[in-house]
Amino acid sequence: MLNIVIFGAPGSGKGTQSERVAEKYGLNHISTGDVLRAEIKKGTELGKTAQQFIDFGQLIPDELMIDILSDVLDGLKDSRGVIFDGFPRTIKQAEELKEMLNMRGQEVTIMLDLDVPEEELIERLVNRGKKSGRADDNEETIRKRLDVYHQKTCPLIDWYKKNGKYEHIEGSGDLVKITDEICEVIEKKK
Ligand code: ATP
Ligand code: MG
Repeated sequence: MLNIVIFGAPGSGKGTQSERVAEKYGLNHISTGDVLRAEIKKGTELGKTAQQFIDFGQLIPDELMIDILSDVLDGLKDSRGVIFDGFPRTIKQAEELKEMLNMRGQEVTIMLDLDVPEEELIERLVNRGKKSGRADDNEETIRKRLDVYHQKTCPLIDWYKKNGKYEHIEGSGDLVKITDEICEVIEKKK
């Protein structure tokens, strides 16, 4: 069982790299952002609640997010492992993930920190916003999301270092090279 947490600021390439790595190792890719956007599109109650946070660059409350993730995990069958994209985003979420996996006799194998300079993140997200039409990819909300990332999500770096799971990945440059670096690190750990 290979359970990978892919970590990084908004725009660091978590989604892109997750898809490539999931394909290579036959893993389930769970993107909490995608799960929430699907709920918004379907117009569910959960989607309406989520939208109120996402549009302002805020995180969905931990309790709600943890319930959602737990449901998604329960829905997986014959899984060879998971790549967690966008979760955990707070220490509380990391503790709960550890607990949820422990209950299933599993653990996080590795946490990959996709490190990209801030100016590049903003440029990537502003560009993505022009094509994707994602309401949260405008400069004001992007800055808010980066603030939230620094305040609430960055402490996970030390948390995973203490747990012996942390790996740094140089996240700017050629997309294929980044995937290669990720795979090298995975091969060493698995
Ligand atoms: P990228 O995927 O390009 O790195 P991102 O990380 O900002 O960008 P998503 O992961 O798609 O984007 O998340 C979009 C929004 O969904 C977040 O800004 C947040 O409001 C909400 N969200 C997603 N995952 C979580 C989570 N684990 N906890 C709380 N809120 C979340
Ligand atoms: Mg994403």
